[in-house]
Amino acid sequence: MRIGHRPKRDVRVTTHVALVARAFGCSGFFLEGDDGYLNSIRGILRKWGGAEDFELETVKSPRSLVKSWRRDGGVVIHLTMYGVNIIDKESAIREIDRPILIVVGAGKVSRWYYENADYNIAIGNQPHSEVAALAILLDRIYMGRELGIDFGDARIRILGTERGKRVLRA
Ligand code: SAM
Repeated sequence: MRIGHRPKRDVRVTTHVALVARAFGCSGFFLEGDDGYLNSIRGILRKWGGAEDFELETVKSPRSLVKSWRRDGGVVIHLTMYGVNIIDKESAIREIDRPILIVVGAGKVSRWYYENADYNIAIGNQPHSEVAALAILLDRIYMGRELGIDFGDARIRILGTERGKRVLRA
């Protein structure tokens, strides 16, 4: 879930958060804010696959979602440079066998999330990017398996090659 999305300023980064979520194994993307931004992501899913399985939703109250997620037995991981370094928590996180909601911010994140997440996790305690943080968390969770994801409903598929571009179109 992307919170604090700032129209105009964050459009590209928010799109990248959603694409990383899809490409690296999340089953959906929640966006606090305007539905308009989800349309471009829907277009990408129709082309590259995942439209059937990947849930895209806007959220009016991300705090209510955090509360209900936990009430329903899920786990909330807030990514923040102020959190506990992933290297000290990755094995505990890998053992979670309940649905995980990963929260990433944009601008300043309210203290409420620090207090209400199950985990505040830092991907290193240096400031960088929500896109990088999400990608590395997912990689640590899936231990590289996410890099082999294939989307059954893709209209376009890449056959990775040493040189050039090989593309299959359905
Ligand atoms: N100053 C903001 C705050 O109060 O948290 C952070 C802004 S940062 C550009 C946007 C988002 O990137 C953060 O909310 C966090 O989700 C993610 N992020 C940036 N660096 C991170 C790090 N080292 N570890 C985990 N997440 C990070």
